Amino acid sequence: MNTQQPLDNLLPEIRKKALKKVDARPPNQLAASWSGDDLLYSGPGRTIFIVLPTPGCAWALSGSGGCSMCSYIADSPLQEVSSEELVEIFKNEFERQIKKQTIDGPTAIKIFVSGSFLNQEEVSEDAQKEIFNILNEYSDIEEVIVESRPEYVNEEVLKSCCSLIPNKIFEVAMGLESADDNIRLNRINKGFTRKDFEKAVAVINRLKSDFNVQSKVYLLVKPVLTSESEAIEDAIKSAEYAEEVGVGRISFCPSTIHKGTLMEILWRRGSYQPPWIWSTLEIVRRVRSSVKIPVIMDTAGFGTRRGPYNCKKCNSKLKNAIIESNINQTIPEEFDCECKNKWLADVQYSDKTRSTTNLSKRP
Ligand code: SF4
Ligand SMILES: [Zn+2]
Repeated sequence: MNTQQPLDNLLPEIRKKALKKVDARPPNQLAASWSGDDLLYSGPGRTIFIVLPTPGCAWALSGSGGCSMCSYIADSPLQEVSSEELVEIFKNEFERQIKKQTIDGPTAIKIFVSGSFLNQEEVSEDAQKEIFNILNEYSDIEEVIVESRPEYVNEEVLKSCCSLIPNKIFEVAMGLESADDNIRLNRINKGFTRKDFEKAVAVINRLKSDFNVQSKVYLLVKPVLTSESEAIEDAIKSAEYAEEVGVGRISFCPSTIHKGTLMEILWRRGSYQPPWIWSTLEIVRRVRSSVKIPVIMDTAGFGTRRGPYNCKKCNSKLKNAIIESNINQTIPEEFDCECKNKWLADVQYSDKTRSTTNLSKRP
């Protein structure tokens, strides 16, 4: 599977069509928040997740069409959101979580903006500062995590954010997706290289002597045009690479089919299938042995029609084993199920048949 056609002539058209179908909703209706158990740098704890509406990911809105698996732009109001409005929305969501007494013991907060928090065109400097000032008042919040493309990671913005929350870990999560430039550029259309990513990690690591700043990487399990076996190997190699370049922790994101993406088009035509849950378990088992930094496997879409899937009998069992492994960082035990042989056949033969979907119809 090495000869790839660049997707950059396809994706802008797909994105344009998808955006036409988006029903414009006011910013406050697009905000969301929830909380759940998570692994913090200090050990098991809770995380509050807050989704904030911003004008949208600059990469997705550019002529590039954005990434081949991502429809976060559909969650954006696609209009200016003033700093005051954004901060107000943040306060409301944050207070809602506090009222639920989510903050009790070690807590992290993840702020999702469906794009880059550090891009001041998406989140203004005033809004960044105001939000961080609010968070600084809560001593149980140990970690503040934001997402950004690497091109917005620079000393100035990091120093500004870190100095507002001096006693907390500030973590920047970047979607590298794959350590392989060909996969990242030509199958995912991510638009940045390993060099760009390494530069951003180096900036973060240079500041560690003065600030409590960390980096996290998101790795996509099974991009489009990728076979089951290549997906497993690429995920493992990418995790090893991330550790080598000095990333603080890793979060694997197994594909789920977002609406209005190239991934969805290929899936509907039978040319793409998200990974088996077996593959994600295999990745976790092998990476736990070869990588020392914390590794999480996101299980959000597991067992759904658009997400990683095994069979009705074992979906939940494996999902729970992976969640436990996320919290304790232990190697999950071996499992068995009647569907396992189908997965093994996919792993063994999908490269030979050049297949990116399953050889056998799933139950
Ligand atoms: S994955 Fe990130 S960079 Fe790519 S389109 Fe989605 S939000 Fe933008
Ligand atoms: Zn099964």
